[in-house]
Amino acid sequence: MKAVVLFPKDRKVKVIDVPEPRLGSPTQVRVRTLEVGVCGTDREVARGEHGRAPEGEDYLIVGHECLGEVVEVGGAVKDLKPGDLVVPRVRRPCPSERCTPCREGHADFCVTGEYTERGIQGAHGFCAEFFVEDVRYLHRVPRELREVAVLTEPLTIAEKSLRQVKLIQQRVPFKGEQASHAVVLGAGPVGLLGAMALVRAGYQTTMYSHSRKPNKKAELSEALGVPYVSSEEHSVKELVKQRGQADVVYEAAGVASAAFKLLEGLAPNGVFVFTGVPPSEQLDVDEGALMKRVVLDNQVLLGTVNAAAEDFDAALEDLRHFQSKWPGPLESLITARHPPEDYAEVVDGDKKSGVKDIIVFPRG
Ligand SMILES: [Zn+2]
Ligand SMILES: [Zn+2]
Repeated sequence: MKAVVLFPKDRKVKVIDVPEPRLGSPTQVRVRTLEVGVCGTDREVARGEHGRAPEGEDYLIVGHECLGEVVEVGGAVKDLKPGDLVVPRVRRPCPSERCTPCREGHADFCVTGEYTERGIQGAHGFCAEFFVEDVRYLHRVPRELREVAVLTEPLTIAEKSLRQVKLIQQRVPFKGEQASHAVVLGAGPVGLLGAMALVRAGYQTTMYSHSRKPNKKAELSEALGVPYVSSEEHSVKELVKQRGQADVVYEAAGVASAAFKLLEGLAPNGVFVFTGVPPSEQLDVDEGALMKRVVLDNQVLLGTVNAAAEDFDAALEDLRHFQSKWPGPLESLITARHPPEDYAEVVDGDKKSGVKDIIVFPRG
């Protein structure tokens, strides 16, 4: 079968022919890949900055954001049948007995770092015509989400974040229906999906992103009813003056300097959620003043990565809601669909489109 693979040794992404995977246990499911999303993590993997091939192999099948169709199920699989649409989770637990999160079904909180991630860390991904996966890592997708379900995985970042913010904010007494203000930093796919989830969760939401208006991402943001403020035109001080302080900041830009500047706009008792993985950057920060503010304002700085089963379920539920509330903008997040042969150029940026690029496997 056709697969998009990375040879880590020479940092080359190629389309090659690999053996088709077969069912290896009664709880496994064979899936035909329909679509695979490409994101910043894939870019890092392709550049050899992150990720590794499976033990003993010289290449890694890439791709972790996937929508597929079940073609065969093992004898013990009751909940899925051929023809069902599915999205797979990404991370698989580490083998350590002392890793309670992995043993309790929360590999997203693994403490040993010995987990694997399909398409990223030591396990083949989904950018191939077929893959085999244990049923416990698959989520059934309602038919009506066929066109957008490839966005499930990037949306789980927001779902996991909001679940944690909710837990944290139980510490603060609120009076009645006090509306909270959220600021999303960065209007890429993760930021725009995060904005949708924040609006859905009841936050008055503002998008704060680099590019000046007009631009495609600003248009999309405003189509959601989320005002777009350009950080090139407006400082954090001006942002706060226009829109108020942020009770929640959802950082989705992966740029440390932009994130730490926005920390100035965080309200007392606020939560600042970091989701991006920035390149190394030396910042001009007054750490003393920063620490003083975080302490005196009871603020929480929260880092979050990967997502658990419940976050995938929540994402699928939210996608259904987004589709009825914002059908146009949701589908417009996917700005281009490409054949597998274009993967290297998509990930390099030569063929990158406006917002979200998707690799499509034609039924062959
Ligand atoms: Zn991704
Ligand atoms: Zn673990």
